[in-house]
Amino acid sequence: MNSVEIKGLTKIYGSNHALRDFSLNIPKGQVCGLIGPNGAGKTTAMSILATLLAPDGGSATVNGYDVMSEQARVRRQIGYMPDFFGVYDNLKTTEYLEFYAAAYRIPVSERSRLIGDLLELVNLADKFNSYVDLLSRGMKQRLALARCLVHNPEVLILDEPASGLDPRARAEMKEIIRHLRRMNKTILISSHILPELAEMCDSIAILEQGRLVTYGPVEEVTAARQGTRILKVDVTDKLSELLEFINPKPGVVSVDGEAGWARVTFQGNKNDQSQLLKEIIEKGWYVIEFAEIKGNLEDAFMAMTGEGE
Ligand code: ATP
Repeated sequence: MNSVEIKGLTKIYGSNHALRDFSLNIPKGQVCGLIGPNGAGKTTAMSILATLLAPDGGSATVNGYDVMSEQARVRRQIGYMPDFFGVYDNLKTTEYLEFYAAAYRIPVSERSRLIGDLLELVNLADKFNSYVDLLSRGMKQRLALARCLVHNPEVLILDEPASGLDPRARAEMKEIIRHLRRMNKTILISSHILPELAEMCDSIAILEQGRLVTYGPVEEVTAARQGTRILKVDVTDKLSELLEFINPKPGVVSVDGEAGWARVTFQGNKNDQSQLLKEIIEKGWYVIEFAEIKGNLEDAFMAMTGEGE
């Protein structure tokens, strides 16, 4: 079952198409990373899902509820963390969460336990008595995440939750999101920190100029450069002869030895790949390493989105 179904969404600002026929299904319990250059339409898509913006065409549902005609129901299902949010002065963390718990009509008798659990979940238990405006940026973002969880939503829409955080704070945020995934939440998360998304997502959707460029499992998206991969072939000696030997072989697009080993851009199939290794060994080279270098999301993103901004 899909928790999120987006079908042909279009949003136009004047002559600017922020979203063009954007479709995406996210199965229940999956974490989907939404990536794209600035202005690609990520925030627009998330705002529509969060019922804060009306599309000009297409439709979207969350747990079967329509974002246009069943907004109150959709809001019960989702926890939305916008990319910019305010926190209030002169409020303590517990008071801040208390305010949202009241807004969601959580019974008074349940609130203090709930708030304690949420602060625990986002690693802010020791800050229960701190004023919100005095928290660090990373802490404020974790508090904002706790706020989205007050009503125990099944679906989370997180717009760049780790932006502007230092590496330690990003790692903490990542760990919390992993925890939420283990709690079987369905999560749509956008970010510019692409390699980090790979570690916590099941699937990746790449948006460019409002269009979905690619969508699939993380491994497929990273390997999606039409089957092109990089092989590392390291031998004990005679590297330049090896480069000449490899160059005309089936599946080889190019080869260079700048790194001190043969970096082979390869489009062949698995048979071509194993045949290549066999022939290198049969020709008498002593092979130290013959490995596929895993492409990363950064590469896939650059390859698929052209110039980006
Ligand atoms: P970023 O990574 O910079 O947050 P994004 O992928 O979230 O970008 P959006 O904020 O959704 O992109 O913007 C998509 C396009 O729509 C951009 O060209 C943007 O300028 C335009 N846009 C967004 N909101 C408005 C608005 N309220 N009025 C006019 N144009 C807008």
